[in-house]
Amino acid sequence: MGNPKAFINIPRKDAGYRPINERIYDFGEVEQTLNREDRKLQASRCMDCGIPFCHWGCPLGNKMPEWQDLIYKGQWKEAVENLHETNNFPDFTGRICPAPCEKSCVLALHDAPVTIRENEAAVTEVAFIEGMIKARPPKTRTGKKVAVIGSGPAGLAAAQQLNRKGHHVTIFEKDNGFGGLLRYGIPNFKLNKNIIDRRLAQLEEEGIEFKPNTEVGKDVSGKEIMKNFDAVCLAVGAGHPRDIQPEGRDLKGIYFAMDFLSQQNQLIMGETVADEDIISAKDKHILVIGGGDTGSDCVGTSIRQGAVKVTQIEILPQPPVGKNPETPWPFYPTILKTSSSHQEGCVRKWALNTKQFVGVKGQLTEVIVEEVEWSKDESGRMNMKPTGKTDTIKADLVFLALGFIHPVHEGLLTELGVNFDGRGNVAIDKENKSNVAKVYAAGDAAMGASLVVRAIASGRKVAEDIHKSL
Ligand SMILES: Cc1cc2nc3c(=O)[nH]c(=O)nc-3n(C[C@H](O)[C@H](O)[C@H](O)COP(=O)(O)OP(=O)(O)OC[C@H]3O[C@@H](n4cnc5c(N)ncnc54)[C@H](O)[C@@H]3O)c2cc1C
Repeated sequence: MGNPKAFINIPRKDAGYRPINERIYDFGEVEQTLNREDRKLQASRCMDCGIPFCHWGCPLGNKMPEWQDLIYKGQWKEAVENLHETNNFPDFTGRICPAPCEKSCVLALHDAPVTIRENEAAVTEVAFIEGMIKARPPKTRTGKKVAVIGSGPAGLAAAQQLNRKGHHVTIFEKDNGFGGLLRYGIPNFKLNKNIIDRRLAQLEEEGIEFKPNTEVGKDVSGKEIMKNFDAVCLAVGAGHPRDIQPEGRDLKGIYFAMDFLSQQNQLIMGETVADEDIISAKDKHILVIGGGDTGSDCVGTSIRQGAVKVTQIEILPQPPVGKNPETPWPFYPTILKTSSSHQEGCVRKWALNTKQFVGVKGQLTEVIVEEVEWSKDESGRMNMKPTGKTDTIKADLVFLALGFIHPVHEGLLTELGVNFDGRGNVAIDKENKSNVAKVYAAGDAAMGASLVVRAIASGRKVAEDIHKSL
């Protein structure tokens, strides 16, 4: 800790977003960057606490106080090396992590935590620009072969860790591009895809083999994989979306959020989408059902496509603003979050249940919603009560952003005969092992839909377990 008074003398400074009237006309990243001197000042605000709650709050156990100090001293190379000890992809998390570390930073008690997430992105950018991030292929090979199925953050982290231990790793991916939801879910305005590409180049140079357009369980059988590999890591994500079935659900104009978001990312990447399949928000009234991050991504994408009006509804009540006594520091707070997309112009409503989709000649025109009241019983369970008060929202398109239930069971998982836990995720033991010999699982497929930071942590853990068994 080079400057013991910085947390008193230097205010928190966020890099901020590009101006709204500029950013809504393109899909470039919305977040800006600080210059290196300002970045060092921001890092100097870290108090090097005796108990670093930031480190506790991070699923990867990133050693925040150590690399904040290294940034402050301008030792960028040492800082990025420190980060890479616990996180394979700080360039991803530095952009899109909700940063539980910042929520548990001691300075968060006064609402001005260290800008840990931005500092993480900044140090990785310096490292890439100055050629500090290089391929680290293993010196020797073990002769063991591991199949990683799925190339999201969990699969990529597992693959890099296992490859560095000397195992021969092949990643199978059903899509054309690698990265899972990083590539086909998260919009470019949050994460530009060249950030993934430069990491893939590193992984390839390290010796990992990539098989795109290969759905295991369809294009290649699970049986064949089991025969040819010493261990199999299922990192297939939680691809089964939650649905609702009010009257009118079969009208034209109602889509799952991922159909819309992945298509936009595909178009930006130059992938072909048939004209009749295009979902366009241009000149339309949009209703996003679901108040979470995926919903917010639909809002930002609709605005960029030229929607007339975007409304986002949520069945739960509006969370408290600022602080929530039910989730006090150092826990992750359940409070109202306003994303860059919300700021771009969106009507947000809470405690609304979707009652009916209404249409003309098979095409959606409006949605009837009903206000609900929430109360807690003695056990703390939330109970919902309809109020009978309804409203009608004009909607040409609806995006269902209601979360994901579990991984897709049909195909590979059924063929392999893996057991599922009570929530339908791949059931694993403490060593990330499924009930099928030499088959492991990681990321959303095993944890349920979560976060990139947790997927990377899970990928690192499964790699350790597979390595031990091999
Ligand atoms: C729209 C959206 C926005 C999000 N935004 C954020 C955010 O801002 N911050 C954050 O931290 N988290 C965010 N998340 C969550 C985060 O993206 C996921 O938690 C994370 O990507 C999970 O990683 P994973 O590797 O387990 O699975 P995934 O990223 O889902 O990857 C699984 C991969 O497996 C492939 N696959 C599946 N079955 C097969 C098969 N049989 N054969 C071959 N390949 C197969 C899939 O095609 C996919 O590429 C977001 C999620 C969504 C949907």
